[in-house]
Amino acid sequence: MKNIRIGHLYGNLMNTYGDNGNLLMLQHYAKEAGYQVETTIVSLGDDFLAEDFDLLFFGGGQDYEQKIVSQDLPRIRDEIASFIENDGVMLTICGGFQLLGQYYINAAGDRLEGMNILPHYTERQIDSRFIGDIEIYDEENDQTYYGFENHNGVTHLGSELKPLGRVIIGNGNNGVDQTEGVHYKNTFGSYFHGPLLVRNEWLARHIVDLAIQNK
Ligand code: GLN
Repeated sequence: MKNIRIGHLYGNLMNTYGDNGNLLMLQHYAKEAGYQVETTIVSLGDDFLAEDFDLLFFGGGQDYEQKIVSQDLPRIRDEIASFIENDGVMLTICGGFQLLGQYYINAAGDRLEGMNILPHYTERQIDSRFIGDIEIYDEENDQTYYGFENHNGVTHLGSELKPLGRVIIGNGNNGVDQTEGVHYKNTFGSYFHGPLLVRNEWLARHIVDLAIQNK
């Protein structure tokens, strides 16, 4: 059987709110398409070559784990940047999405450096979090996505980046501009836990298809 190789970035540290369910969905649709999935956790200090993977997944995490992870990121940053530029398929959720950008100011006010691969940045809310059901509309693909968000961070995409979708219900990136997540080339970011792909079958199939096309 043919293989899809998934690199699960910091999967032992960044795995909150059932985010790993995304991997089960990818496995399910890959199998349907005749592919076996091989998942490897890439964590602190591990050797990493992006070319060893067809798909990268970077899940959410709490501030404590996120701080430890952010300190290890410079090591693998350039590999991930060229993977993304070369149309590699990557899914990032919440804390992973934040660390794809420039920085994240955590709830305690510490600045965690992101990989600065995409130009978004994340600041904090004081004594408040965005928690609840969320619904967004992805105009490019004419799809509505449903999920659950739980984050302190408020993310600003800036003028160049496109969101994954426009908020219909909930807060999304910052509760103000109706953007949710990010979509750049074959890289996706989202605040949806729940997990994202379990509730949004179209997107799960789409991500698997992109990874297969790239092989
Ligand atoms: N610690 C980050 C925040 O609160 C990310 C949380 C998460 O990944 N769920 O914004």
